[in-house]
Order: sequence, then structure tokens, then C-alpha cells
Amino acid sequence: ARQFTRPLNDLANQFNVLLSAIAGAERVFQIMDEKDESHDESGKKDLQYKEGSISFDNVTFGYGEEVTINNVSFTAERGETVAFVGPTGAGKTTIISLLSRFYDPDQGVISIDNQDIREVKKKSLRKYMAFVLQDSFLFAGTIRENIRYGKLTASDEAIEKAAEAANAHSFISKLPEGYETKIDAEGAGISQGQKQLLSIARALLADPEILILDEATSSIDTITEIKIQQALRRLMQGRTSIVIAHRLNTIREADQIIVLREGEVIEAGSHETLLEHDGFYADLFHSQKNVSHTYSGVTS
Ligand code: ADP
Repeated sequence: ARQFTRPLNDLANQFNVLLSAIAGAERVFQIMDEKDESHDESGKKDLQYKEGSISFDNVTFGYGEEVTINNVSFTAERGETVAFVGPTGAGKTTIISLLSRFYDPDQGVISIDNQDIREVKKKSLRKYMAFVLQDSFLFAGTIRENIRYGKLTASDEAIEKAAEAANAHSFISKLPEGYETKIDAEGAGISQGQKQLLSIARALLADPEILILDEATSSIDTITEIKIQQALRRLMQGRTSIVIAHRLNTIREADQIIVLREGEVIEAGSHETLLEHDGFYADLFHSQKNVSHTYSGVTS
């Protein structure tokens, strides 16, 4: 089994490598749902997807007695990017776990297109979501197969188109065996950044309405970093995206930035608004902009 180094722990521990399988997760979720015997959903309806607006309305949640998410509210309108920033342990990953219904809030309501997500079948909820998570999941197989995982019925042409949009095509083409290059589950022979490009290609192929992104924190060379940012921009375009942001570029471009600390929203707004506000975010921005492109690991 893979080791997860970052706090996707609750997702990862429960569902192991399967969840981090990024995109087109429907099949994966199906397997998980079958295991979830505690939940009879036969009486529930399918989510009626309209435009993909996501709302948290006074959501409070704790894994145990302690409150992990305290009275959090926000709305991501259709096509918007909402970025969460904050120190390690602030509750960013938990927001994602709640949205994908690995847990239900103790108080408050999470809704998509005005439907309480507790009232719809999980499968129908997750059908619209793709995940690009920190630790990009690769499996032993060819690069082509790894991308195809986003949409099992995709043609070779569609796979290469997705790879192009993800800025992955050029590195793949330079490999002696191109798309037929075999990789192992660790992705031996390709870099961390290239793994991310593959995971973005996979998500582009899946073409989800809602994107859930946990940006990688690992340091990556500048050129690959630019490629990743550009590919992510393409991926987020036109989709409602919930992002755990570690990179200043991604944060800057978000429609809304929500700063979490100890489970509470302490600031929210656009990059400009938050700079004007001159609080936590402004400090973070000023302290990091000259140092590196990421702030992760420094804020805890
Ligand atoms: P972030 O993503 O901002 O680093 P998390 O959402 O991962 O924060 O964690 C928020 C808090 O909840 C932390 O104190 C963490 O230890 C705790 N936590 C996370 N997952 C679990 C879990 N499965 N069980 C118990 N506590 C958890």
C-alpha cells in the first residue's frame, strides 16, 4: 500500500489508494458504496444537477468531541473557484470530506443546487466530481492506461488531447515508448511534477462538473510548475472548483479565498479585498511572496 504523507488521512485511510484515484471516480465510489452497508439509500433521489453551485450553510462538524469545523458558511457559484488556505490542521481537508459526504455535518447544511446532499444518493453526488489530490495516484500500467482511468471509454485520440491540454503530451512523446511507457505504482522514471500533469490529464478526460483539488506541496522545478499552473487553469475553467491552495498563483486567481484557522473562517474575499483587509492573508502573502511559490509547511 502507498504511504500518504499529508492530511488526506481521513479520505485516504478509509478508502485507501482508491479515492486518490483522482478522476472518474464513479466506479471507485461504487465499490466503496457497496461496502457502506450502514447506509441504505434506496429511498433517496438522485442529485438533480443544474449548475453546480455549492453551499455550506453554518456547517459544524467534529470527528469526535472536539469541534473541527465551526459554523462555516460559503457559496461557490457556478464555475467559480473557491480556495481554502490556512495552517495545517485548520480543517481544509475536512471541508472536502464533508462535501463528498465521507462525513455528515453535526449542524448546518451542505447543498448543491439547493439540494441537501444528505438527501441524495452518494453515487449521484460523486458522479459530478473529480478529484485531483496531493498524492497523485498512479497504478502499474502504461501511461495511456493511467490517463484512461479518468474515463474508461475514452478513445486514444481523446486521451492524447487531454494530455495535450494538461501539458503532458510533450514529455510523454519524448519517452522512448511514448504513451505505451509502462510505469509502476510509484511512477518510477517520471518526476513528481510529471505525475501531477498525468493526474490533470486524467481529470480533464473525466471532464467533471465539479472539481476538487488539493494542490501538491512538493517543490517542483519552475518550468514544470508553470506547466502545472497553466494546466490547472484549463481544468478549473468553467467548473465549480473547491481548492485547497498552496500556491500563491492559484490563490490569487480564485474568485473567493477563505482563510480557515482552527476550523473557523477568519477571513474571506478576493485576493485584493484580503490584501486591503491587511490581516492573516495579507501577512501570509507578504511573508511568502519573496520566499517561494508555496507557503505550505511554513504556516503550521
Ligand atoms: P487541514 O487539511 O487544514 O490540514 P484537516 O481537515 O486535515 O486540516 O484536519 C483538521 C483537524 O481534524 C486536525 O486537528 C486533524 O488532526 C483532525 N482530523 C482530521 N482527520 C481526522 C480523522 N479522520 N479523525 C480524527 N481527527 C481528524
